[in-house]
Amino acid sequence: MIIGNLHHLCYGARMSTLSIIATPIGNLEDITLRALKALATADIILCEDTRVTKKLLDRHGIKKQTLSYHAHSKLSRVWEIVDYLKKGRNLALVSDAGTPGISDPGSELVKKIRQELENEIRTGKVKIETIPGPSALTSALSVAGVPCADFTFLGFLPHKKGRETLFKEISQSVRTVVFYESPHRIVKTLESLEEHLNGNTDDASPQIVTICRELTKIFEEVVQGTAKEVKNYFEEHPDKVRGEFVVIVSG
Ligand code: SAM
Repeated sequence: MIIGNLHHLCYGARMSTLSIIATPIGNLEDITLRALKALATADIILCEDTRVTKKLLDRHGIKKQTLSYHAHSKLSRVWEIVDYLKKGRNLALVSDAGTPGISDPGSELVKKIRQELENEIRTGKVKIETIPGPSALTSALSVAGVPCADFTFLGFLPHKKGRETLFKEISQSVRTVVFYESPHRIVKTLESLEEHLNGNTDDASPQIVTICRELTKIFEEVVQGTAKEVKNYFEEHPDKVRGEFVVIVSG
């Protein structure tokens, strides 16, 4: 108690924490005890989509003020968040699924907060901490059984410019390559992979494609084979061209 008071005297303002919290990628039970505790004790929860996060909070009986932060948020929202931290409020940052910052707007927000509160962070008045947990990236690699001592993660591929070049790079990569894909593009992507990878030639050891779909959800599925085999599978099962996908290409 005395130490706490001394700490206040030494540093003046109250210390605040921004907790970057990983949340489930489907199954709402995939959340750590620490994450639940941090969500329940935060003053405000920053969410990509407040409706998505509300489902998680309801499932765990947490009632909290939420504030949205997404790719189209105005700069004024960043100042508001920075101001909360300056005033000693404890914030939690979550994305719609998985680890904030991995191919979602979280990294941009953390970057801006680090820039704006450089001094406060250095002097210990503001702490940015990680509360790790699920990510579609690591979940997919863990279930695929492919070499991943080192790998290249591409996030979402560009829709047009640079897309073809990336497929060429993937086909020449000595490392396993992982990227996220949407249901609208997955078949087109598999066509491009078939075109570029050696799976459509007589090569003795073609590159292997692994599609991880709907991980941790009811229709979780892992499909593995040459690009041609995997593409044929999804063409033959159009009902499976839905949900969320991670694509892995390994040598
Ligand atoms: N930050 C998140 C993470 O750590 O996994 C990723 C956010 S990114 C905007 C969303 C993409 O992740 C989806 O389009 C999909 O490619 C992938 N993803 C998320 N949940 C998934 C799941 N349950 N199964 C397969 N892929 C998933």
